[in-house]
Amino acid sequence: MSLFRPEIDRIAGYAPGEQPQEAGWVKLNTNENPYPPSPRVVAAIEQAARGRLNVYPDPLATQLRRKAAEAYGVGPEWILPANGSDECLTILLRSFVGPGELVAYPYPSYVLYETLAEIQGGSHARLPLNADWSWDHARCEPIVRRSKLALVPNPNSPSGNRWSDDEVAALVPPHGVLVIDEAYAEFGDEAAGPRLLHSALGGRFVVTRTLSKSYSLAGVRMGFALAHPDLIAGMRKVKDSYNCDTLSIAAALAALDDPAWMLQNREKIRATRARLSQSLRDLGFHVVDSRANFVWATRPQGGHRGIYEALKARKILVRYMRYPDVANAPGGAIDGLRITVGADAEIDALLAALREIG
Ligand code: PMP
Repeated sequence: MSLFRPEIDRIAGYAPGEQPQEAGWVKLNTNENPYPPSPRVVAAIEQAARGRLNVYPDPLATQLRRKAAEAYGVGPEWILPANGSDECLTILLRSFVGPGELVAYPYPSYVLYETLAEIQGGSHARLPLNADWSWDHARCEPIVRRSKLALVPNPNSPSGNRWSDDEVAALVPPHGVLVIDEAYAEFGDEAAGPRLLHSALGGRFVVTRTLSKSYSLAGVRMGFALAHPDLIAGMRKVKDSYNCDTLSIAAALAALDDPAWMLQNREKIRATRARLSQSLRDLGFHVVDSRANFVWATRPQGGHRGIYEALKARKILVRYMRYPDVANAPGGAIDGLRITVGADAEIDALLAALREIG
């Protein structure tokens, strides 16, 4: 007899990308930034480590919220810092989804949404996308109408495409909340989220952001939920008291204090993204126009898993993704390679290996 709740017994659990702990890998599988964070971050962590680690951090991370408010163009009372934007998603599910209430998200997109909905005991529904990653509005609309929470990553993963503000704003459930997951927003040209928060429907949006990708801080764990203060006040009741630790808060403050460093790395990544996309197309891959720090590459003849394995044998890790139950896909499933835009030398190694594998 299992001691677990039936919801937990039923699910396999979310499987994060592989994180080999030994050196020597070209790691292009979990959308980390190949460049280190600002030197100010390291100095701030060192200074904080010499400070008062015996006392709890500020539960509301007041100083950090002020700094993040400047960065994201909203007031500090509109911000909830968390242990990565993944924790924001957990808080959102726990705040808004009761037993049996519907959670909707585009499919294919971030697989964690489904797992979180299952853990929460909500019901869930996939919003179908067309083969070119555009919205199938006619089929989505009735699902959104019944949803308590809709979650939309923009740019999307694994595809890297970005939907327009109007298209995303149209997905607000009439009796619920729309979460716009902007984990990769800085790699595009614009981000709708903070602007939408001040629109007529602003009280129904939550935008999530992270320092993991653009600010090179995946190892520190810091994300933010941005929303109307009434929503933030409710979500605070759900979060752990001290969900952000002293060292993470110090690191995040320093990172946000050096946007020039982030922007310089972002420009390098965008230039490498253009070169990677073109080179993959030259090798016969179809590559979606990406606004993120990864690209989605597929070949008409398939064989993606084999390529992933052949790359892995050469110590190059990319993410092989397979999404079953896609109604409009040949064979009922789509699969492909999600490749993080690494440093130029890493991308050179990847392209050389792909030419060899053929
Ligand atoms: N949203 C999306 C779409 C992601 O791909 C990721 C990274 N796996 C996250 C959120 C979470 O990132 P983090 O918890 O590091 O902020």
